[in-house]
Amino acid sequence: RIRTRFAPSPTGFLHIGGARTALFSWAYARHHGGDFILRIEDTDVARSTPEAVQAILDGMNWLGLEWDEGPFYQMQRMERYKQVIGQMLEAGTAYYCYTTPEELDAIREAQRARGDKPRYDGRWRPEPGKVLPTPPEGVKPVVRFKNPTSGKVAWTDVVKGEIEFDNAELDDLIIARPDGTPTYNFCVVVDDWDMGITHVIRGDDHVNNTPRQINILRALGAEVPQYGHLSMILGDDGQKLSKRHGAVSVMQYDDDGYLRDAVINYLARLGWSHGDDEIFSREQFVEWFDLDRITPSAAQFNFDKLDWLNAHYIKQADIATLVTDAARRLTQRGVSLAAGPALEAVIALYRERVNTLVQLADSVEPYYIDVTPSEELSAQHFTDAAKAALASLRARLADVAWDKAALSAAIKETCTEHGLKMPQVAIPLRVALLGVAQTPAIDAVLEVIGRERVLARLARIA
Ligand code: GLU
Repeated sequence: RIRTRFAPSPTGFLHIGGARTALFSWAYARHHGGDFILRIEDTDVARSTPEAVQAILDGMNWLGLEWDEGPFYQMQRMERYKQVIGQMLEAGTAYYCYTTPEELDAIREAQRARGDKPRYDGRWRPEPGKVLPTPPEGVKPVVRFKNPTSGKVAWTDVVKGEIEFDNAELDDLIIARPDGTPTYNFCVVVDDWDMGITHVIRGDDHVNNTPRQINILRALGAEVPQYGHLSMILGDDGQKLSKRHGAVSVMQYDDDGYLRDAVINYLARLGWSHGDDEIFSREQFVEWFDLDRITPSAAQFNFDKLDWLNAHYIKQADIATLVTDAARRLTQRGVSLAAGPALEAVIALYRERVNTLVQLADSVEPYYIDVTPSEELSAQHFTDAAKAALASLRARLADVAWDKAALSAAIKETCTEHGLKMPQVAIPLRVALLGVAQTPAIDAVLEVIGRERVLARLARIA
């Protein structure tokens, strides 16, 4: 049975890179009918916060990446790690090392002076026939893993292919600090082992940890999982992803008006592909997803593509979803919907014209507030000729049938009467009604706003 995990460190938000890792791990488990486990790696006490844990859970929930087991917290598993360290000391796969930090510095200094790579020199490492020094008084030892000194440690990475390291390059990793607390790489190993993880999918910033983790797993007699290291996500300029490039919390995407289906679809295509398919549902993605289609090269974050996908999902969305979302955003802005037209009708005018739900809310807001056109737009569009035309249009609209055909006819008659072209009336009319020069078809806009509100708004201008 396939078992994957997402193992974030709660030192910040769930950002786009982490979300993609979570999505791929989740999708792989779902594709195979396996289990997806959430593990919070909170052993860095100084940098981990409960707020960050919550932000990660919120992000996972918003994306709909539901986990089958967990969240497990490493801080709650300390006894277990210590137990395994005890077993390794007993089995001789780990040993106490009394080298103090000062001594280590001196060792490294001497190595550097000789032109060697600085590393622990193995002075406390037990070997057959070797006489170890006597433990000094008052020094609390660390525990080191007895890494093999020869041969290679290799794995077939499901993303990057064959990777190998010389064991001679890896020194004996500290697995417990002087106070007995386990170190990061060790906790990961015990967890992956205990949790029966079959596929470790994570960022390629962890490639260098993998040979150490594999060696420890082998020393424990544990089965070594498959590893897949995902390449970084770069900004659209090829630089490391930063805030400016979109490396923000996934919840920021919610705030910024992206639908979660669009974000999921977008993330799925960041480093994974299925032929030429660009738009697909979450279910379709799970059905198609496999590790062999992950691209080993870095993916580039592209806001235009995200916007394009989001526009698509807004067009497809249930109208009720859009209404709820716009109502929430407008209420947050202090806009009351009570005095305006039905939100559903206004949204129907705009849903095909926007990239984000924020743009949608921006577009519908003028229907509900007391719009005052800017001085600039007023000066440009409320010429004497336009005002005269709007005044006679207002008279016509007072008792015309309130449907698109009749409204259109009323505008045309006004144009003819004043010797003006359609835009010479329609644009000032838009500015008068909504404070903007561009809107959907003017007859549809009038119809939705409603007679009373149209007449009241026109009365202020002409
Ligand atoms: N906690 C690590 C991180 O947030 C992930 C470790 C792992 O996936 O093995 O980068």
